[in-house]
Amino acid sequence: MILELTALELSEKIRRGEIGVCEALEAVFRRIDEREDALHCYITLNRQQALWEAREVQKKVSSGKLTGPLAGVPIAVKDNLCTKGLRTTCGSRMLESFVPPYDATAVARLREAGAILIGKTNMDEFAMGNATESSAFGCTKNPWDEARSAGGSSGGSAAAVAARECFAALGTDTGGSVRQPASHCGVVGLKPTYGTVSRHGLIAYCSSMDQVGPVTKDVRDCAALLTCIAGLDERDATSVRREGVDYLAALSKGGEAALGLRIGIPREYFDEGADLEVLEAVRKAARRLKELGAVTEEFSLGLTEYVVPTYYTIACGEASSNLERYDGMKYGLRVQGEGLNDTYLRTRTQGFGEEVKRRLLLGAFVLSEGFYDAYYLKALKVRRKIRETLTEAFRSYDLILGPVAPTAAPLLGEAGKDPLKAWLADVYTVSANLTGMPAMSLPFGRTAKGLPVGVQLTAAPFQEERLLQAGLALSQE
Ligand code: GLN
Repeated sequence: MILELTALELSEKIRRGEIGVCEALEAVFRRIDEREDALHCYITLNRQQALWEAREVQKKVSSGKLTGPLAGVPIAVKDNLCTKGLRTTCGSRMLESFVPPYDATAVARLREAGAILIGKTNMDEFAMGNATESSAFGCTKNPWDEARSAGGSSGGSAAAVAARECFAALGTDTGGSVRQPASHCGVVGLKPTYGTVSRHGLIAYCSSMDQVGPVTKDVRDCAALLTCIAGLDERDATSVRREGVDYLAALSKGGEAALGLRIGIPREYFDEGADLEVLEAVRKAARRLKELGAVTEEFSLGLTEYVVPTYYTIACGEASSNLERYDGMKYGLRVQGEGLNDTYLRTRTQGFGEEVKRRLLLGAFVLSEGFYDAYYLKALKVRRKIRETLTEAFRSYDLILGPVAPTAAPLLGEAGKDPLKAWLADVYTVSANLTGMPAMSLPFGRTAKGLPVGVQLTAAPFQEERLLQAGLALSQE
């Protein structure tokens, strides 16, 4: 069955001529036709163009011009990454009819590698949320239980990979949006070190934390995607040059990579009110790593109670500044009012949903004169402390192990009931964004109800290879 292959297995069969690029693409679209009405992973599909691209890529593969590990692989992209000529909504009415004139760098690199862009996945509006329920285009359902959320904000990407509606996907992660939906949908998700993947063409939410990351069926696919999208880009001043990194090659060691690794498990993670089944998955992963030759140890990390307030103060502040550009003049929606100010007011009132407005108000408040020092500046100082704390921990440990989210996928509607509770559920993921460190979510078992549970590994900056190696070892369970 084509759809059960990983991206790497598929591309190998394509190179050998055992499967055609169009054949793989058609299998995906057939799957989409069967499942999309129920799941709603996509906002926009790229059917016509994808078929045309598939034919072109097939020619290049057949003639030996394209030999890379993603050639011919149908891939989905979160709808906050600009795609030339293909509508990019960011899950918002504000950008409902926005068609970008260029590709985001990550998307361009995938295309150059011969991946076929099949569509744009559903997401929380402007990536603000963790349930894909704040999308202006309706929620995405969890493929394992349609009464439940796929997680978010890259819920469409994670659900599409899990439901075999694509072979791999790109998501973005500002505070956990790649890792948390990956955990809820039972797939692999990685947030790279800040600066690893260019943010050019990624519609900004919180620029100091946004990163593009792979959502895949397994760890090898994750490494292949990351190798393709990572690298210096002169159009993003925060992107970093790293010579000759091949994440896939780093995986050749296999299971032995865990040998001798020092793994720390923050004691505080057991006191944050997570479900017992989630904590059990973490303990089980620790036992497994130990069997593989790692040294595991609980330790006190500290400051964990501050990560969520610090994150939301900074994220909302940056968002309120980044989203100023949606004023009805330059992009997307314009609701004509009486004069300029009234047009701004009507456009933003109708263009943004409730969660986005909540954050813009909070963000404008923390940046306002008189409150800036008390909130925003304070948050920046705490952010530095959090970075110091984690840096200190990485002097003793190679990796930190913990949960991804406090629960498995919640029922649909939960996130909207109590916004504050939803924010608090980000406690395990936001530290990696506040500190720029890489972190990966790995499926590790199921709850009694059959829902996937993930565990999270975090590493020091630019230690993605180590993260992937340990992830591979763990996933061979
Ligand atoms: N849940 C977090 C938020 O709403 C993270 C979102 C993200 O990573 N894009 O801000």
